[in-house]
Amino acid sequence: MTQQKSVTVLGSTGSVGGNTLDLVGRSPDRYRVAAVTAHRDVEGLAAQIERFRPDFAVIADASLYGALKERVGGGATELAAGPDALVEAGRRRSDWVMAAIVGAAGLAPTMAAVERGAAVALANKECLVCAGDLMMQAARSAGAKILPADSEHNAIFQVLEERNRSGLEKIILTASGGPFRDWTSDRMAAVTPKQAVNHPNWDMGAKISVDSATMMNKGLEIIEAHHLFDLPETLIDVVVHPQSIIHSMVQYADGSVLAQLGSPDMRVPIAHTLGWPDRIHAPANRLDFTDIAALTFEAPDETRFPALRLAREALTAGGNAPSVLNAANEVAVASFLEGRIGFLDIAALVERVLTETPPTEIGTLDDAVASDLEGRARALEALESFSSPRVAAAP
Ligand code: NDP
Repeated sequence: MTQQKSVTVLGSTGSVGGNTLDLVGRSPDRYRVAAVTAHRDVEGLAAQIERFRPDFAVIADASLYGALKERVGGGATELAAGPDALVEAGRRRSDWVMAAIVGAAGLAPTMAAVERGAAVALANKECLVCAGDLMMQAARSAGAKILPADSEHNAIFQVLEERNRSGLEKIILTASGGPFRDWTSDRMAAVTPKQAVNHPNWDMGAKISVDSATMMNKGLEIIEAHHLFDLPETLIDVVVHPQSIIHSMVQYADGSVLAQLGSPDMRVPIAHTLGWPDRIHAPANRLDFTDIAALTFEAPDETRFPALRLAREALTAGGNAPSVLNAANEVAVASFLEGRIGFLDIAALVERVLTETPPTEIGTLDDAVASDLEGRARALEALESFSSPRVAAAP
């Protein structure tokens, strides 16, 4: 009999968190939920507490603690609230942690899980963008295993031959190109939040959907890949592949290219990290190759999608630049979703903040948090000068 694995899901009420619990819930004999966390979704968290009976559950917005307590009643689950409780959820014992909080808010709890030496499935790319060197160093010191859950990085993780490192020529991240792949800039200027969150292939949270539409997501993924696989920016290519069937590839010295394929369903990479080093069943659609008419590829257009260029520049600059890029992007995306700025303003605002922020080094987690706060403050200030066409906020 296999031993039951205890799992923590940081960001359990989100898209990745929900997919993770979907897999966990299908094998109650194999998995037990140790901890779950949400930001403000009391109802979603309460339903998960009732179903999975975790030891510990956290609502990050402390003002909602009373509502959660009232809704859940006196069960066996210990309830807590606020940022310290979020970190405690990462720190408490469990065999496997899914880091699926969106944005830099996931940094401290994910770091807590890494520092206790857990196996950490990493979906939250923003924490590597903000503090990648620190997190990878902490993982090495604590003996934590970081398992890439982002589909592209999971693909690389599956086909990267560690024993043949010297024969690796480059990695190739695939990008769907998002919903506006073939739109002109003029047309993109009038994009609404509703259009931007409607991804053609993947069903994801609002922030990453907008990031996919601007291609900032791919930019963040270049930085994420740099940290996860210890590769320079120059060895990380991006190719647009609209069908999202090939999730990424590694090219070797003998001309071989190894790719990982699958249907665009996050349960595939999540199952890979949950079962690792074994393989477990995932209820995703199987590929039918006779049904796939064509796999197509094109070069990314950094003129229409400047976010890609900005992310490469931030990675090359190093220091606080990636963290500032991420913070400004979080503010810009939230402002776009609220209808305060236009779609093209997202990258423009990020570029302005990056240009105006003096470089500093990131030596500690406090430095990373400080540069995140500085990036946000500068983005909020810069926002005032953007007088974009007013568009309807996301429903
Ligand atoms: P969602 O927006 O669907 O979910 C985010 C989760 O984080 C929710 O549980 C949310 O709680 C919680 N959360 C949000 N803000 C805070 C905060 N300030 N403090 C604590 N918790 C917070 O996001 P996704 O699941 O789409 O994405 C999660 C991460 O995974 C992102 O970093 C994304 O880039 C990455 N990713 C996502 C993929 C996808 O397919 N969705 C694919 C690959 C990577 P609440 O529900 O209460 O708001």
